[in-house]
Amino acid sequence: MATVYTASRLAVLVACRAPSSCCSSSGRSTRVPLRAKMGTRKKVQAFVRVRPTDDFAHEMIKYGEDNKSIDIHLKKDTRRGVVNNQQTDWSFRLDGVLHDASQDLVYETVAKDAVSQALDGYNGTIMCYGQTGAGKTYTMTGATENYKHRGILPRALQQVFRMIEERPTHAITVRVSYLEIYNENLFDLLSTLPYVGPSVTPMTIVENPQGIFIKGLSVHLTSQEEDAFSLLFEGETNRIIASHTMNKNSSRSHCIFTIYMEAHSRTLSDEKYITSKINLVDLAGSERLSKTGSEGRVLKEATYINKSLSFLEQAIIALGDQSRDHIPFRQSKLTHALKDSLGGNCNMVLVTNIYGEATQLDETLSSLRFASRMRLVTTEPAINEKYDAERMVKNLEKELALLKQELAIHDSLSNRTLVNYDPMDEIQIAEINSQVRRYLEGTLDEIDIINLRQIQEVFNQFRVVLSQQEQEVESALRRKYTLIDKNDFAAISAVQKVGLMDVEGNLVGEPDGQSFGLGVAPFSVKPGKKPKIKKTPKDQFRPSTPPSRTVAFEEFKNERGSEINRIFKENKSILNERKKRASETTQRINAIKQEIDETKDALNFQKSLREKQGEYENKGLMIIDEEEFLLILKLKDLKKQYRNEYQELRDLRAEIQYCQRLVDQCRHRLLMEFDIWYNESFMIPEDIQVALKLGSSIRPGLVPISRIVCLGEDDQDRFSHLQQTVLPEGPDSITFYNAKVKTDQKHNYMKTMVGLQQSHRK
Ligand code: ADP
Ligand code: MG
Repeated sequence: MATVYTASRLAVLVACRAPSSCCSSSGRSTRVPLRAKMGTRKKVQAFVRVRPTDDFAHEMIKYGEDNKSIDIHLKKDTRRGVVNNQQTDWSFRLDGVLHDASQDLVYETVAKDAVSQALDGYNGTIMCYGQTGAGKTYTMTGATENYKHRGILPRALQQVFRMIEERPTHAITVRVSYLEIYNENLFDLLSTLPYVGPSVTPMTIVENPQGIFIKGLSVHLTSQEEDAFSLLFEGETNRIIASHTMNKNSSRSHCIFTIYMEAHSRTLSDEKYITSKINLVDLAGSERLSKTGSEGRVLKEATYINKSLSFLEQAIIALGDQSRDHIPFRQSKLTHALKDSLGGNCNMVLVTNIYGEATQLDETLSSLRFASRMRLVTTEPAINEKYDAERMVKNLEKELALLKQELAIHDSLSNRTLVNYDPMDEIQIAEINSQVRRYLEGTLDEIDIINLRQIQEVFNQFRVVLSQQEQEVESALRRKYTLIDKNDFAAISAVQKVGLMDVEGNLVGEPDGQSFGLGVAPFSVKPGKKPKIKKTPKDQFRPSTPPSRTVAFEEFKNERGSEINRIFKENKSILNERKKRASETTQRINAIKQEIDETKDALNFQKSLREKQGEYENKGLMIIDEEEFLLILKLKDLKKQYRNEYQELRDLRAEIQYCQRLVDQCRHRLLMEFDIWYNESFMIPEDIQVALKLGSSIRPGLVPISRIVCLGEDDQDRFSHLQQTVLPEGPDSITFYNAKVKTDQKHNYMKTMVGLQQSHRK
């Protein structure tokens, strides 16, 4: 069965690894190459390091063949109430198990690629997780008194400075900071050193578009390896001193050592530069401290640690769930400070430190669970590339000067000496405006081309003049006519009632393609434009008895009414489609509601279970188990879905209402137009037919019947003017003016007819 890999076995694995950073084809490699193409997703890497022991629980802990999994087997034990009747076997997939591994090997496996990629612009985070004493600090910092046993941190600094030496083409600056989070308070472990920068107390976590930074945390420029080491030792010393003077237990705090890098090319023409940072995180002990029934300071530490680690886990679970768009980073200082370094565009590596002893199996299990959950998170490493604005401006200025010289040479070669390429001033623009006006009026034949700027300004002034003219035309029309919105069916039908609409349903004088219609324009407004006439049954024959309205309506729908009928049908089908969608959405909402209810029930059940056990609740701070947490997440998701669906339903309902109104309006208009058409086609009085026959080019429909017998527009204007100015003199004057209007109206009619006859003869 599975064997425990000893140091010699691992040595073999190491020996067969490819030396470069590219992927090893060996399936047994403990290393997954970190190098990823930009934009490709990759998983967080989770390694497990086992603390060396003579008392390794061979029976219970077994490593997989490929050294990338751990199987745990628990014997049933009646005394162990928690485990009894519960699961006894677990299997965890990992990216590598480090058993009896040297610090050297650990660095090679875990950190080397992430650090090397940081120099290429990728952010990285390496984190040690595990119960107190399992080896987190040993892994991260190592033994400071023994070079051979130094940890990831000093090795990372060394690698950074080595790589900088190998890149003489770039000017790379390195800065470091060392932050400690203890009981949700932030401490600067390098505050004892001189630092030029704002000192802010208390420190705060600030988010800006560039990412997260900690206001008040000192960041120290280091130009060589030795300086960097001094900073590290200073931080470590402060960590120890603080633990004594402030009575802090260093295993209860999270420490984040950050290396910031900024690389500028030494070639000045290269405007891009890259920035990156590497976070090396030594987390607080993950053991469940609240179980011990501690009090006072220890209890406070316990709740803070449990809380921040459980928030870290929540954030990580949320990161692993692609459907989540909100990640709860702000719940704790730890997750907030690491916001741009967890998931996202970083390389992320987790080392879970565990004990190999049987007595620690409970905590080991919980640590392995964390590790395997971490592996679900995917990140999308990307280079943090920025542009050096100053360099860019300088380069562009150079280019501009060169091009101007080039242009000057070109102009003098082609005898164009007086061309000015500077931006135009107001006077020049006014001159172009006047040229454009004269060109449009026809008094100027051509506008000479001078240069590109001038051509652009000519076009610009065309636009200016055009929009001015449009406004002038519109306001002139408004002064004379009442403008009606074409989509305002109520207004249109009112206008039709008083006979201002021609038989095609167009407003008389309606300008083509405009968004407004003009009421009551006299014929002369549309010179030379022959109104289009659609066929009516009367064009071919006129039955002696009119057809029934039902029969005629069918015909109308195929003829003159076809367009409005089509729109009517279209609106109706949209309405039906929306109604169908609304009913589907309602069904979905009901289903979600049901699921919400079920989840709530399950949650309540979990809650009651927890309350019964009562072990993780303390002064309002709750530590909940995974199942309950997942249920809460599910409920939150469901509620979000519910809200979304409900919103959609509301939108649909509004749309339905709107469509319904459109359909009603269309129906109304269809019927109304049918009435007009029907009357015109079958019900026109004899005398008017005679009048119409005078000019054979006139068709019913060209002149609306209602208009022939009603007031001419000018008459109407005059009448209302008179009403306003004269009528107040006395009500008796009304009859006088009525008579006057009627006479004018008759004259107007005769004039129109004669005019039409004449134009026909021509
Ligand atoms: P943690 O930081 O997780 O609380 P430490 O790193 O302080 O644990 O480790 C506890 C003790 O165990 C330290 O004395 C450390 O030197 C030792 N230790 C841990 N891991 C190893 C290892 N892989 N090899 C040798 N000693 C170790
Ligand atoms: Mg430690």
